[in-house]
Formats: sequence, C-alpha cells, structure tokens
Amino acid sequence: MAKIPKDFYSDVDHKPFTHCKVCDCRLDDAQMPYVVEKAYKRTEQGEDLTLFEMAICIMCAQEQVAKMSTESRAFLQRSLMGEELMKRRAALTENDWENNWKTECLLTNKTPKINDEYHIVGQFLGDELLEDQSPYLIGANIIEHIQENLSVETKEEWDNFGRQFYGPEDPQLKALLEDHQFVFV
Ligand SMILES: [Zn+2]
Repeated sequence: MAKIPKDFYSDVDHKPFTHCKVCDCRLDDAQMPYVVEKAYKRTEQGEDLTLFEMAICIMCAQEQVAKMSTESRAFLQRSLMGEELMKRRAALTENDWENNWKTECLLTNKTPKINDEYHIVGQFLGDELLEDQSPYLIGANIIEHIQENLSVETKEEWDNFGRQFYGPEDPQLKALLEDHQFVFV
C-alpha cells in the first residue's frame, strides 16, 4: 500500500493526523479509515498557503453527509462530484498518480493559477492510502459551482459544522471556515 503524500500532513507538526477533528477518535492506529481535506491558496510568490486543514473519520464524514438536504445530495450525485469523480479517480490511480494527482483539478483538468484556491482530498487508513485510491485536487471553479448549488439548509449545516470542529477559540479560522465549502463528500 502507498504511504500518505506529505501534502496531507498536518501543518501543526508536519506529521500525519492522529485524531478525528470531530469525535477525537484515533486515526493513527489504522483501525478507522479517514478523510483529510486541506484548502490552499496559490500566492504571487508561487507559494501555496494553507487556508484550512481537517481530518475526519469515516463515521463522522458519513454522519455529515446524512445531514445534507435531499436536494443537495441529489445535486452532488448528478454533478461532477458523483460518478464522474469516481471514474476519473480510478483512471488517475492507474495512471502514475504519484506524479499527476496535484498538478490539475481532477474534474476540470485546470491547473490552479495565482490567487486561486484549491482543495486536496485523500482517504487513508493509518499512514497509508485507503485501498490504493489516489488522492485528488479540486479547483476553484468546482468549489464555487458546489457552493452556488447547495440548498440553504445544507449550507447552514456545513457552517455549523465548521464552527463546531474548530471551536470558538480561533476567530480567524472560524471566519474563514464560515465561507468555505468542504468537498470531501
Ligand atoms: Zn470522527
């Protein structure tokens, strides 16, 4: 099994995440699959700054998906985030993913430009890729498209989720999260 790319390490200690941000269960003992999502912004200096990062166990992720409204779930299913994503991800996994996964958006094939935000998403078990599934990158166009099409209830639900797991102690992060769309579903 392939190891987690370093891009998915926590910015806090430059190591793989050890606990679920929501329920605090352990992730480092390889008992529970989990998702890591990180949002970056590409700066004029050519650096990629982390806007947020999170690790969530599969149970909490499923719970979050179950809270989405029926229409939002239907939208994601018929949009590129449904079957198309799985197909493209499978193709990437078979096609030298190690060198290709973060060069362009999995769904639009566009490379993030300066000032663009993009997200990376991966599923892992312990310090390895889950079922050898390639991680992937989602670009700004798709993130905006999702944001524009989710129902009001689902958006509120995601905002609450952002507030809950970062807690009230970091107002800057909290403000950022409130306008962020997670794509890990
Ligand atoms: Zn959890």
